[in-house]
Amino acid sequence: MPKKTHFRYKYGEIPYPVFFPDATRALVKSLDSDDIRATKTSGILVNTFHLWHILDKSVLAAFGGIREYMGWKGAVISDSGGFQVMSVVKKGVSEGKITDEGVVFHPSRNRKVVFTPEESVRLQMSLDTDMVVVLDDFTDPKDDHTQAKKTVDRTLEWARRSKAEFDKICLEKGKTDEDRPYLLGVAQGGEFMDLREECTKELVKIGFDGLGWGGWPFVEGKINFKSAEVISQNVPEGYLLYGLGIGKPEDIIKCFKLGYNIFDCVLPTRDGRHGRLYVFDADDIKDIDVTKPNFYHFFNSKKFANIADTSKISEYCDCSLCQNYSKGYLVHLFKLGDPVAGRLASLHNLRFFSLLMEKLQTANFSSQS
Ligand SMILES: [Zn+2]
Repeated sequence: MPKKTHFRYKYGEIPYPVFFPDATRALVKSLDSDDIRATKTSGILVNTFHLWHILDKSVLAAFGGIREYMGWKGAVISDSGGFQVMSVVKKGVSEGKITDEGVVFHPSRNRKVVFTPEESVRLQMSLDTDMVVVLDDFTDPKDDHTQAKKTVDRTLEWARRSKAEFDKICLEKGKTDEDRPYLLGVAQGGEFMDLREECTKELVKIGFDGLGWGGWPFVEGKINFKSAEVISQNVPEGYLLYGLGIGKPEDIIKCFKLGYNIFDCVLPTRDGRHGRLYVFDADDIKDIDVTKPNFYHFFNSKKFANIADTSKISEYCDCSLCQNYSKGYLVHLFKLGDPVAGRLASLHNLRFFSLLMEKLQTANFSSQS
């Protein structure tokens, strides 16, 4: 399989790597689709599980897909819902349980609702996203080897069922390999590398366009990239590799060096709303060098007191915050607590991430280990 250079979406192609901010409920918080476009962000991620709860089938039938609903013309990917299932069910936030059939909820005493792997694929196909991710059984970081193995076995069984459903829908809709969405599996197994390897190899046999690095990679507060590496070492050349929820620039770069080319995260906009802005350490856009160890720093609006500061967050950034407003005015807006502050900071942060992707496309890490 030749190495893929571009992410194909409904209206075109985007060079790898790609970063998609989270529009969990068909909204990137505090921004509309026109704002997102202005940051040169090429795509967004919507959350299958949350939309399953919110969107009536009639909405997608009326609009034709989530893109039309949002007035968004860029790429859209949807996640599997596995992480959210873990959040609401495995952590006991919501009444529900995971069975071989799927995720079973009881909204009322006599009512049972099942979110199955097939339902997840069907919904993602109705959303008309450019990349469908199959439902997986999240390996809890507290799981021992036996429990983790069970999540891997279930993830594989659900992946087989999802692939069958995906193929069936593509056939019904007359989709070819050129105009169907990408289909990705998710490799689980926690910190047990033998399970990660087994899960990866078995998923490859089922037949996907790529795999996601699933689970919770934090060990004692730090990301352990070993499992990401095991996955990348056990997939065919040219496979798409997706770092689910990976958003810190240095983490993106570590994954990118391992062969990962798709990323999503809430960080740029969440940090923006909290007054935390990402700033490249460079004097001009053309001088940004993401191969350096410390190529950016944070500007923290909430720790900055000078509302008379006339300088820009970044003198060369082409986002609407840096083009039109001073550091002092942004700090003033945050002090007022007005949502405009979070919006402007989010616009700047998304432009930082789109620039990061642009720079990674041509970055040369070959002189580094
Ligand atoms: Zn800016």
